[in-house]
Amino acid sequence: MECDVRIATKANGQVEWGGARPRRIAVLGSTGSIGTQTLDIAAKNPEKLSVVALAAGHRANDVLAQARTFGVRHVAMGSEELADQAVADDLRAAVRESDAAAPAQARAASEPSVAFGARAVEDLCALPEVDVVVNALVGEAGMRASYRALKEGKVLALANKESLVVGGDLIMPLAHAADERAGHPGALMPIDSEHGAIYQCFVGERTSEVSRLWVTASGGPFRGRTRDELRAITPAQALNHPTWNMGAKITIDSSTLMNKGLEVIEAHHLFGMDYDRISVVVQPQSAIHSMVEFVDGSVKAHLGTTDMRIPIQYALSFPERWPAPVEPLDFTRIGSLEFFPPDTDTFRCLALARHAGEVGGTLPCVMNAANEVAVAAFLAERGSYLGIAACVEAVMDEHERRGVERVESLEQLESLDRWARAEAARHIS
Ligand code: MG
Repeated sequence: MECDVRIATKANGQVEWGGARPRRIAVLGSTGSIGTQTLDIAAKNPEKLSVVALAAGHRANDVLAQARTFGVRHVAMGSEELADQAVADDLRAAVRESDAAAPAQARAASEPSVAFGARAVEDLCALPEVDVVVNALVGEAGMRASYRALKEGKVLALANKESLVVGGDLIMPLAHAADERAGHPGALMPIDSEHGAIYQCFVGERTSEVSRLWVTASGGPFRGRTRDELRAITPAQALNHPTWNMGAKITIDSSTLMNKGLEVIEAHHLFGMDYDRISVVVQPQSAIHSMVEFVDGSVKAHLGTTDMRIPIQYALSFPERWPAPVEPLDFTRIGSLEFFPPDTDTFRCLALARHAGEVGGTLPCVMNAANEVAVAAFLAERGSYLGIAACVEAVMDEHERRGVERVESLEQLESLDRWARAEAARHIS
């Protein structure tokens, strides 16, 4: 990836970065943590961002309020049961109202729509008036949406982890092809703070001169504890993250360091870096969001306030920077910046994820599915905290025994995902 920044016009003329027209965004996962923060940024930048489509799983009343606020003409709900409920009529009335108020140009592009089911969510990626798909979906539905967005020539602002952890071998070739067609980078913009940080450190640099990526970790709420001290951890304790405010699943993953493992795999795909050149370092203040080391020994670090709206906004403003509604870091008050190696004996999920990444193929898919099942069991108080890593390891072992495959298709990954979930259910402890 060559990241020399320029104000760019897409070869197909769809997107004029730096132009006068707002970038038109579809927000998939609009009621979650990343989705609501994305809408917050859109509300503060109405001349730069226009929300044209919303999708969420089942919180239809929240989506209804969002659709009214932003005058959205397209809504998709993942849950099909909602189609027969009263809120479906409210959603239809809301998009009709938005349509009546929309400029003629928007109305000419497409008919207003309200649709239900996983396919309906994915279909928003194909709307002609969408420039950027913000993919903040949770789970494997997100991988299909990423695939579709890039296929349709949209910019993909990516927060969905499965897209790269599970489907990186399918998604990255599409992103590279899109960059090549457009003649500039930017088809796939990471939203995660670590990858956004690395992306920014790459800007203006030659990829061949990068020697190492340093992915920073806060260490989570249990940093410094022993395995024995983790035996009786409850969901409430694990949900209390020291520095970042995120959804439940990712907060648990942060506490087990599985999240950092997933991020290592994502970094491998996003930046084309071998695993032996991706290091994790614990930086408890979370002021440094990641670092890139170069062949001449120089290291670039990205620092900023721990607020997800900064990396989300950069993914949407690239190659520009816009003022953010966030207090900048006050270096006179940080005190000190500490660095520690991660304790992978206690937090085994990080080592398991790295192993899955190194083996590659279908192993990360299986690992991810097992982890989701184990985390859900822990949150429901059916499984223990240490049982998460044990379950993931058992399912990975079984898959390696049966034979890891090359990634060939979304269908293959979805079928393995189902197998791994069923297998994981037998290993909850
Ligand atoms: Mg992160």
